[in-house]
Amino acid sequence: MSKMLLPDSSWQTDPETGEKAYIRNFTDSKYDWPEGLLQGGENGVVVSPKGNYKTSFVEIFVDNTFIRGEGETLEEAETDCWNKYQDRNLCPGHEWEPRGLKNGGGYCKNCNIFGMNVISIEEVGEHCAVCGKATFYHFSHKTNLYYCEEDYPLKVEQARYFELLKNRSWDLPADEQEAFNKELNELYRIVFELD
Ligand SMILES: [Zn+2]
Ligand SMILES: [Zn+2]
Repeated sequence: MSKMLLPDSSWQTDPETGEKAYIRNFTDSKYDWPEGLLQGGENGVVVSPKGNYKTSFVEIFVDNTFIRGEGETLEEAETDCWNKYQDRNLCPGHEWEPRGLKNGGGYCKNCNIFGMNVISIEEVGEHCAVCGKATFYHFSHKTNLYYCEEDYPLKVEQARYFELLKNRSWDLPADEQEAFNKELNELYRIVFELD
């Protein structure tokens, strides 16, 4: 049995000591999933061009793919996700097509599963704005241009962001924690929201 991460994980204060700790909530899953990040939640809002809707969902990140199931309840969503995962295993052989994606991700013609890093950079046909080599390393929404890893303008900020995430400690004194969160949030804004 696997453990499923729930999104209601949050900072909580111990009423006796006053210390803050980040509590991650897990639930037991129904199926025997492979090793990977399994997460789910109830009443997640899905933004859709056909109108936003609320659903329970279960997602797994495994073998370079991301599979999502939806349903009325968390159990239904997990079954939906599990069935999609089984379909994927029955696929006679993935044949990837980008369907408009330019980041190397694509969908299988046969089983419809999504895969990351499955389309070659030549096929995507985008080029670095600085050096001109084929790349889809980074697309800037600010400039509408692609950059290769070497020429990515925010590589220092991005590296710092991932370094902070990797070395994240959950039991810093409150003032250090606040400074840490502030830097992390600011970097997130620069790297992911403003670009
Ligand atoms: Zn397939
Ligand atoms: Zn370049």
